[in-house]
Amino acid sequence: MAEYVWLDAVGNTRSKTRTLPPKKTSLDQLPKWNFDGSSTDQAPGDDSEVILVPCAVYPDPFRTGAKNVLVMCEAVTPNGDAIESNSRSAAAKVFEKYPDEVPWFGLEQEYTLFNLDQKTPLGWPEGGFPGPQGPYYCGTGPENMFGRAISEAHYAACLYSGIQISGTNGEVMPGQWEYQVGPCVGIAAADQLSISRYILARVCEDFQVYCTLHPKPITQGDWNGAGCHTNFSTKKMREKGGLDEIKEAIYKLGAKHAQHIAAYGEGNELRLTGKFETASMDEFSYGVANRGCSVRIGRETEADGCGYLEDRRPSSNCDPYIVTGMVMETCMGPKAPEIKASNKDLA
Ligand code: ADP
Ligand code: MN
Ligand code: MN
Ligand code: MN
Repeated sequence: MAEYVWLDAVGNTRSKTRTLPPKKTSLDQLPKWNFDGSSTDQAPGDDSEVILVPCAVYPDPFRTGAKNVLVMCEAVTPNGDAIESNSRSAAAKVFEKYPDEVPWFGLEQEYTLFNLDQKTPLGWPEGGFPGPQGPYYCGTGPENMFGRAISEAHYAACLYSGIQISGTNGEVMPGQWEYQVGPCVGIAAADQLSISRYILARVCEDFQVYCTLHPKPITQGDWNGAGCHTNFSTKKMREKGGLDEIKEAIYKLGAKHAQHIAAYGEGNELRLTGKFETASMDEFSYGVANRGCSVRIGRETEADGCGYLEDRRPSSNCDPYIVTGMVMETCMGPKAPEIKASNKDLA
């Protein structure tokens, strides 16, 4: 069985299955397929066929014990042109332009679990609020942690599928979790994150728990939002003296702040307020170990003089193809004026 997965008009994953001969499940053997785009708001009714082009293949963690696969696909018109929701096509072209840079991405996907009513976060009293934030982040105990079985099942399933999931942790708001995918090279980061989101949705079906990637699921009261911090490095940044290259990249990101914010996810303005470990979306900032900045340089990167940067702006519901492609494009673009760091210790 081959489960063909694609992104729909609002960025959710959709999928359908076909039976194939066992020898046909490698990327070079998998046939193209199609779906009814008029049922997903991705094509008009009178020309409804959208073509699915296989792009990446993973072992299927839900149908184990045989050569069953998950197939990440691009959606194109019968003429082969990317449809509007196909952001992968453009991103892949960006990465193809810079094969020598070996870009790595680590994506920190945060998500929030709810009862099926979609109103009550998991573990919260119905119509009310739990105790204030504090004991939940990386917490333990049934009074603090809600949905760990989902996080664990998702983690194991991702590992089974060969997703480079690098870790997971409970988040600041109760019912909120995070996992990290990466470091992955180039387009593989967004492919793997997309499949990991598909796996998350499927795991939540089994548990009958609602999962949202909304960046600010609870607006009333003092509750953290949800992001998709994007950690990024090129070969030069990871090598000796790479910190200068990192700073140059940060200046370029700063010069295009507004364009990046506009592309970093729906509803992100509710999250990027300057509170709850975010920077205001109106102004670009960066600093060492500073979680109130748009872009953070880790302590270790500063100490080593090389490493990576963390773009903290993307929202949890961002399109990972758009975000990774844009970070790459901007950081490969023309030199930008220097910006002063928000901490004094980064001269
Ligand atoms: P945080 O301290 O922000 O919570 P995490 O540990 O959650 O950090 O996520 C960091 C991510 O960055 C991980 O996915 C990790 O694999 C990734 N990463 C590590 N080194 C690099 C690098 N050189 N380039 C890009 N990503 C990296
Ligand atoms: Mn993290
Ligand atoms: Mn986090
Ligand atoms: Mn982070």
